[in-house]
Amino acid sequence: MLNIILGGAPGSGKGTISELIMNQYGLQHLSTGDVLRAEIKSGSVLGQEIDAIISKGNLVPDSKMIDLIENYLNNLAPDCKGVIFDGFPRTVEQAKALTELLTAHNMDAVMIDLYAEESVIINRLINRGKTSGRADDNLETIKKRLDVYQTQTKPVCEYFLNLRKYFMVNSNINPTCTFSQIEALLTMMNK
Ligand code: UDP
Ligand code: MG
Repeated sequence: MLNIILGGAPGSGKGTISELIMNQYGLQHLSTGDVLRAEIKSGSVLGQEIDAIISKGNLVPDSKMIDLIENYLNNLAPDCKGVIFDGFPRTVEQAKALTELLTAHNMDAVMIDLYAEESVIINRLINRGKTSGRADDNLETIKKRLDVYQTQTKPVCEYFLNLRKYFMVNSNINPTCTFSQIEALLTMMNK
């Protein structure tokens, strides 16, 4: 199995690159952000709680996210070739839980971190906001999300670096360029 934790700030290209990896390597794509937005769309009470958190740019609590991942892993098809974790884990607590859950399922993962500069990211998110309809793609919430990323999510990189499972690619240019770097990386790892 090839399991990839795709990291990077909001707007670094995780969703776009996940599609490319998914098509090339036949992996499943788990975007926890998409799962949360689907819950909001369903209009459930839980969805309303999540909406209040996301539209402010904050993170959904660790326990909720870990339950979601545990449930997802328990229901993986036996012939699954691997999973792309897009946007999860977002805290070190979540990273520890994911490591334990993966071990319990006889699975392993590497983190690939998409790095893009802040000015590039802000431009992308503002542009996405024109068509995405996402309540959090406005300048004020974008700044809050970048702040949450730096303080709560960035430490996840060091966590996987310490486990020798961390790689960074340059995501400033365009998706093709980012994807070629990932292909080279996976080839080097014999994947
Ligand atoms: N979110 C969260 N935990 C997750 C994924 C998403 O709390 O595991 C929330 C958080 O509020 C985040 C928002 O959902 O700001 C959007 O996340 P997504 O990954 O979809 O967007 P991105 O940050 O990549 O633009
Ligand atoms: Mg995304």
